[in-house]
Amino acid sequence: MKGTFPCLQFERLATPFYYYDTQLLRDTLKEINRHASQHDNYHVHYAVKANANPKILSIIREYGLGADCVSGGEIRAAISAGFPASKIVYAGVGKSDWEINLGLDNDIECFNVESIAELEVINQLAAAKGKTARVAFRINPNVGAHTHANITTGLAENKFGISMEDMEKAIAAAHDMGNIQFVGLHFHIGSQILDMGDFMALCNRINELQDRLEAAHIRVSSINVGGGLGIDYEHPNRVAIPDFKAYFNTFATCLKLRDGQSLHFELGRSVVAQCGSLITRTLYIKQGTAKQFAIVDAGMTELIRPALYQAYHKIENISSQLPTEQYDVVGPICESSDVFLKQAELNKTQRGDLIAIRSAGAYGEAMASMYNCRPMPQSYTSDELAGV
Ligand SMILES: *Cc1c(COP(=O)(O)O)cnc(C)c1O
Repeated sequence: MKGTFPCLQFERLATPFYYYDTQLLRDTLKEINRHASQHDNYHVHYAVKANANPKILSIIREYGLGADCVSGGEIRAAISAGFPASKIVYAGVGKSDWEINLGLDNDIECFNVESIAELEVINQLAAAKGKTARVAFRINPNVGAHTHANITTGLAENKFGISMEDMEKAIAAAHDMGNIQFVGLHFHIGSQILDMGDFMALCNRINELQDRLEAAHIRVSSINVGGGLGIDYEHPNRVAIPDFKAYFNTFATCLKLRDGQSLHFELGRSVVAQCGSLITRTLYIKQGTAKQFAIVDAGMTELIRPALYQAYHKIENISSQLPTEQYDVVGPICESSDVFLKQAELNKTQRGDLIAIRSAGAYGEAMASMYNCRPMPQSYTSDELAGV
């Protein structure tokens, strides 16, 4: 089954461009709120790095989510989209001074701190402003997510977070600093996680750490379990909205929250991936000796996930109803890795046909580059095109 697209409107637009189905985005956000609100003290932050398009951010903000930022630029993007600073959390292994100052000036909810060295700098910069920074420590839980190696972040040999052995030491350091308020623990084990067992393993690890802290009479007011819920790249139509019910229930069942503790989530991909498609036009069909190539006008500059992570995206020819044939769908960039999909089954494709690369709403436009002096991709929402 193909997706439904406003092909007539598309014909008038220069390709390539991102197309966002805002109805699906809204339905996804409603599902998130419906299921998160079944549980007390659950707070969902949107991980801005997945897609920082202002049109997308402002819709997400309308549904009351907070924001999870990993740079000063993202803090600015979240604030200009109207996210309240009191719901902005800020993570990242390498926060520079101006970025920390920006967070302090806006009184953001929390800095997710990844090292004691960073904690010292935040304390100094906060002292200079006469402010107190709320901090959570990102703890590396040494839980492996069954996903691509480049998007696993919770293992011991990873650059992210503070090791479990150093947790008490970090908390003690925070308590000794005059301009730091320790509020909680932060975790993030990876991305595109579909096996709820990985989140259960995280919950078990958090339970152990909480027991340890309780024995040491250390009070923790918030737990942040990060993001990572995956989506179905194979079936963007049939499974357009991830199973948020099972996701939140996993934490409700496995995680032992203490009295008054709040639980925070940082969902990125699962919020925005399915609402976005990269729309590109076929430039040439090139007959090779053993195969044929569909050369399209989008490349790894617009969507780098296949080249970077060997990621699969479903591809459809939305202009053709002819019987299918096999194509290697490739872009125009001067890199051999500029391949979207090998042996894609497409309706017979000709020059000029529009191609939809599905499930591209997360880590698509946000990772676009100007390599080869290409312009940054345009974007259109279904709302905008309905109004044309
Ligand atoms: C990337 C990231 C997220 C979002 O991950 P998704 O897999 O897109 O849900 C959340 N928290 C942190 C700290 C991240 O780095």
